[in-house]
Amino acid sequence: MILRCHALLFAAFSLCARADIALVSEGGAMAIIVTADHPTRVVRYSAEELVQHVEKATGVILEVRTESEAKTSVLPHIYLGDSRAVREVGIDVERLAAESFVLRVKNDAVFIAGNDGGGDPLDADTRAGTLWGVYEWLDRDLGVRWLWPGELGTQVPRTKTVIAKTCDETIAPRLFQRRLRAGLGFESEHPGLGFTKAAFKQFSDEQSVYLRRHRMGRSYLVSYGHAFTDWWEKDGKAHPEWFQLLESGKRGPNKKNGRFSMCVSNPELQHEIVARWSAKRPPNATTPGFINACENDILGLCTCDKCRVLDGAEPVDYLKFYPPTSKMAGSRFVSDRYARFWLGIQQQAPAGATVVGYAYFNYFQAPTSGIKLNPNILIGYCPSAGWFPRSVEEHAWMKQQWADWRSTGARLFMRTNHLLDGYCMPFIFAHQFSDEFHHAVEKGMVATDYDSLTGHWATQGPNLYTAARLHVRPEASAEEVLVEYYSAFGAASAKVKSYFEYWEDYTTRSREKINQTMEALQASRWRSWAKAAHVLYPPECFAPAVAMLEHASRAAGDDAEAAARVKFLQLGLQHAQLCARVSAMLTLASPTATKDEMKRAVDELIAFRRANERSGISNFNHLAWVEDLSWKLSEETRQTPDLYP
Ligand SMILES: [Zn+2]
Repeated sequence: MILRCHALLFAAFSLCARADIALVSEGGAMAIIVTADHPTRVVRYSAEELVQHVEKATGVILEVRTESEAKTSVLPHIYLGDSRAVREVGIDVERLAAESFVLRVKNDAVFIAGNDGGGDPLDADTRAGTLWGVYEWLDRDLGVRWLWPGELGTQVPRTKTVIAKTCDETIAPRLFQRRLRAGLGFESEHPGLGFTKAAFKQFSDEQSVYLRRHRMGRSYLVSYGHAFTDWWEKDGKAHPEWFQLLESGKRGPNKKNGRFSMCVSNPELQHEIVARWSAKRPPNATTPGFINACENDILGLCTCDKCRVLDGAEPVDYLKFYPPTSKMAGSRFVSDRYARFWLGIQQQAPAGATVVGYAYFNYFQAPTSGIKLNPNILIGYCPSAGWFPRSVEEHAWMKQQWADWRSTGARLFMRTNHLLDGYCMPFIFAHQFSDEFHHAVEKGMVATDYDSLTGHWATQGPNLYTAARLHVRPEASAEEVLVEYYSAFGAASAKVKSYFEYWEDYTTRSREKINQTMEALQASRWRSWAKAAHVLYPPECFAPAVAMLEHASRAAGDDAEAAARVKFLQLGLQHAQLCARVSAMLTLASPTATKDEMKRAVDELIAFRRANERSGISNFNHLAWVEDLSWKLSEETRQTPDLYP
């Protein structure tokens, strides 16, 4: 037997169980990475990621060779992806479930081989089981944590010895789709407030890598979304009876180009939806089929007798958690008609096809008529209320809606908009978010699609890390996840923890004030938060936080990495303070600035953003998008940042 552990190194030796394999020992490579002779892009990228992280941990660069080249090497092999050797030990990647991988460390070799597609490894639609396997191993055996995008947010414990621990497991993702929408598409009428082109590219590239490191992706294509937006134009003339009946007795939108809902009780409409889907479905398709039956972006409004007769009794707490100005005010509860609509479609669809609907607006609460659905109906949980932070009662109510839909027998996925909230303020709700996620997993969540990652990494890190990390470790408690995050700040970790606890407590206590201010200033949680930032984050709330980060900075001592991470938080906080100050002057609710003051304020903000746009603290394009509808702005910021100032 070849002794894989360096016999002279007691530390390494004592860590090494009999079949463990040392990959790096005392500054020397003890293994090589081996791929097929013609590896896929996913496998090549998996090798790069493995090399890069091991190098960051040890300073040692592992060699990557193809199977044919590796024949002469006496070092143990780390096999990545499908290859002859992998098949010889009985791993058949073709037979693995979508995105699954085998992680096997035994008989003097490491095997990480998964179900992979042939596409771009950074594309969410490319299956990347082998890459997930590499990340799983880096997580377990090297203790790597990806706190935020980019080098500084990549926590790799330094070590002289790397040991692959004995194991033999086949692992599949818990959710067939894991998605935090990247938030890279925000466009503003005032792009001058956003990124320059080059800085956006960096931000966007680093974030794409980050999302894959948290295994965002999907096992197969699922199509859904507001399904009938162009139907009136196409079919309104021939089939007005498929569309909502208005009080006026007319069918279709109530004004030209207005939004409209469907007459969902109409069996011919249900039939047509299946027929159109079937006509597009390739006859030899092997992936699961999804029939998009998500209502348009509007309440269910059909007033016809056939729709109305399907409606269940209105729940007693129906409008309890919606503000009086919500579109929901005065609406009729119509969940049962939608449940019957989806069931009707599913019953006409080919066996195995899944019908997708949204629980949204006045069909968000679960049906009350006792209707039973089944797993071939997939429902996106899409509340138009329930912003964090919630009261205890509201939080329980939100969870109850999920549980009640689950009780119908349908499968559920998370399709909330709550992550769009909070602008770039230190707006922290990690514990409540985590609790909702855990509850959903416990009650049958099969996929996620969060809209959207706004990318304010330096002020909202605990929220965002929790959202990403739970996708990989859904069983981890909020505390376990946050301990990982804080521990990356070295000796400053306790101070950083106190700092974010201060903000989470501040956020939680501000609930009433947030709701009232948003109403009073007519600001939208997801679209025009910067109208209200100065009211919700006045100067005095920042003072203790600034001091806490100064303490953290001192505590980091001569740990350069920890100090740089604290500095990252400080930059985010300075930027948030600046934004709150500018909000006070420019808010559309009651702008106070003169033309000169306005220019000075905007110039100062832009100078800060330009100086720090490579730091990764925030997605400035998201901010420009919010500020556009929140602030009184002049013409200058309509120029692209590459020209202005
Ligand atoms: Zn109807």
